[in-house]
Amino acid sequence: MTYPPVTLNNGVTMPALGLGVYQSKPEETTDAVVAALNTGYRHIDTAAAYFNEIEVGEGLRRADVDRAEVFVETKLWISDYGYDEALHGFEKSARKLGVDQIDLLLLHQPLPTHFDKTIAAYKALETLLADGRVRAIGVSNQSPEELDRLIGETSIVPAVNQIQLHPYYTQPEWRAANDKHGILTQCWSPIAGAYTYNGNEKNPFTEPVLVQLGEKYAKTPAQIMLRWHLDHGFSAIPKSVKPERIRENFDVFDFALTPDEIASIDALDTGVSGSIDPDSLTLEDHGWPIPE
Ligand code: NAP
Repeated sequence: MTYPPVTLNNGVTMPALGLGVYQSKPEETTDAVVAALNTGYRHIDTAAAYFNEIEVGEGLRRADVDRAEVFVETKLWISDYGYDEALHGFEKSARKLGVDQIDLLLLHQPLPTHFDKTIAAYKALETLLADGRVRAIGVSNQSPEELDRLIGETSIVPAVNQIQLHPYYTQPEWRAANDKHGILTQCWSPIAGAYTYNGNEKNPFTEPVLVQLGEKYAKTPAQIMLRWHLDHGFSAIPKSVKPERIRENFDVFDFALTPDEIASIDALDTGVSGSIDPDSLTLEDHGWPIPE
């Protein structure tokens, strides 16, 4: 059973599968991180705007695993965009996580109404990378056009673009843009959580293609979806606060899908996002402050 790493465009390796903690309540987060690390996960994805970095840090310290073995990823929120603001945002996150160095720091969203601030924040990430405060830098929810613009105005191509991607929303154009630039596609809502929590009628856990493949491999639909991500070469960061699901989502390294099976899951794409348009976020409506 191999826990696959992916190599980022700056040579840093990252475990392909991590635990996500969006919507993990602070009081559930530490236990979820400990359960994940004790299961074998070595990658945690959080964000300043999840308001649980302190509890993630507590989990990192409580688990029976060296900090150096764990790939810690977090994201700056839009209220901390701008050069000086982003440097300060990093300090806030590092302090809350209780780490000196963050393995991967992302800009959480583009800010189309203030793209100059997005660029300035990214330049701060470049400084943090040069200073060794972060090991890799990247973005999230950046469209192909936004990536082109960001890359045109900055020096370092992002290592990662974290985007909504699951069998119901396979994002071919955004993946192609990431590939064109040598950017790793990292998938949020990898088991279609965005569809589930929006009350969408689509339910991946009863989806016949996923159920039938589950029967073939003695796996659950969630495990089939996560294997599909790995077989595509993506990074995926499923969220759960339930220890049994945390273990289930990690038990995906002992089988592989065939090209036809991968294609049958690709064909579930609806082209419909399960979430809001990332470009609709504004400082005015979504720029809630990140506490010290
Ligand atoms: P997800 O991981 O696809 O799905 C999470 C949902 O599925 C939760 O309701 C979870 O509930 C449930 N679940 C987990 N494992 C399961 C299993 N084996 N069987 C059945 N249900 C299961 O969706 P997500 O949380 O939206 O995305 C994952 C991570 O991506 C987030 O935690 C976050 O780190 C990141 N993310 C990033 C962005 C961004 O803008 N960059 C946006 C959204 C998410 P329980 O916890 O109760 O198990």
